[in-house]
Amino acid sequence: MRTVTSVVSMQRLALKWRGEKIRTGFVPTMGFLHEGHLALVRRARRLVGPRGRVVVSIYVNPTQFGPKEDLGRYPRDFKRDLSLCRAEGVDVVFAPGDAEMYPGKAEGRYSTYLIEEQLSRGMEGAARPGHFRGVATVVAKLFNLVLPDVAVFGAKDFQQAAVIRRMVCDLNFPVKIIVAPTVREPDGVAMSSRNKYLVGDLRAQATVLGHSIRAVRAAVAQSAKPVAAARLRALVRETIKPVPAAKLDYVEFFDPITLAPVVAVARGTQMALVVFVGETRLIDNGLL
Ligand code: AMP
Repeated sequence: MRTVTSVVSMQRLALKWRGEKIRTGFVPTMGFLHEGHLALVRRARRLVGPRGRVVVSIYVNPTQFGPKEDLGRYPRDFKRDLSLCRAEGVDVVFAPGDAEMYPGKAEGRYSTYLIEEQLSRGMEGAARPGHFRGVATVVAKLFNLVLPDVAVFGAKDFQQAAVIRRMVCDLNFPVKIIVAPTVREPDGVAMSSRNKYLVGDLRAQATVLGHSIRAVRAAVAQSAKPVAAARLRALVRETIKPVPAAKLDYVEFFDPITLAPVVAVARGTQMALVVFVGETRLIDNGLL
C-alpha cells in the first residue's frame, strides 16, 4: 500500500493506471475510519476486481465546515486508518494537506467552487450553509486527481449522495457513482466518526434516531391511507422528547430521487432527520 500526499503525484499515478487500462475504485472519506467506511472499500474492491486499484482518500475538508462547526476537533487517527486500509487491501491512501488541496487559499488566491443549485438547497444545505458547496468542490477536485472509474458513497449521507450523482451527471464526470447501505451498530445507531463524541450515557441516547425512523415506518405501514407529514413530525418529536440530551434539528419526508418534500407520506417516501445528542449532531435516514 502506498500513501500519497501530493496532488501531482496522485494525478500522475492515476494517469499511469489509465494508460495501462487499470480500473480504479475510489472511496472518499474524512478518516477516523469505521466499519461503514470499510464496507465502501470492500464494495470498491468487488467493483474493480483483484487487478483494479482501490484508492481511499483521507481528507478533512475545511470548505464543507461552517465557522461554528467541529473542524478543529474532528476525530483523527491516521496511523489506525492506514492499518485498517492495509488490512482491506487498499492500494493507495491519498491524504493531501490543505496547502495541496487549496493552494493559495490562506493568501486569498483560491477562488473556484462548485455549486449544485437544486438538491442541495434543503435539509443539510439549509442547516449548514455552504456545506454542499464545499462537498461538491472537494469531490470534483478528488475525481480530477484520482480519475476513478467508480466511486462509492454511503447512504447514511443520503442528500450528499444525491448531490454528487447530480453533479456527475450535469458536469459529465466519467465516473460511476455507487451508493452503499448504511452500516449500523448492533443497537441500530448508524456508524459515524462523530460517535466518538458520544461519551458516557450519551451513546445510549443516540438510539433515538433509529427509534424515530422505526416509529414513523410503523405508523406508515399501519395506515391504509398516506399519513400527513405534520402528524409524523409530531410522532418524531414525541419519540425524542423523553430522551434528555436529544434535541431535534430537523426531520423531513421527501421523494428519494428528486428530494422534493412529501406532505402525504406513504411507503416509498424517504425520511431524514438530524438530532443533537448533547453537542453532537447526528444524521440518519431511512426508506419508509
Ligand atoms: P465521512 O468520512 O463521514 O465523510 O464519510 C465518508 C463516506 O463514508 C461517505 O460516503 C459516507 O456516506 C460514508 N459513510 C459514513 N458512515 C457510514 C455508514 N455508517 N455506513 C455506510 N457508509 C457510511
